[in-house]
Amino acid sequence: MRTLLFIAAFFIAFAIIRHLWGRKPRENRPRKPDQIPETMARCDHCGLFMPRWEAVEDRGRLFCCEEHRRHAGRL
Ligand SMILES: [Zn+2]
Repeated sequence: MRTLLFIAAFFIAFAIIRHLWGRKPRENRPRKPDQIPETMARCDHCGLFMPRWEAVEDRGRLFCCEEHRRHAGRL
């Protein structure tokens, strides 16, 4: 009989823990992978990601290097 009580108590405790876990707020979820942080930029020519401060800007478009900026300008 004591074993049965122990098992019952275990299951109740388990249910309570699971219930509390399910109620945990999910605010600390990581960013979606498709969201680019503001400090990152994407090359308009090859699609490469780089820090914003390393990007070459040309008429509102961003490029990873001078070569790609010139190449895209020729098109
Ligand atoms: Zn590029």
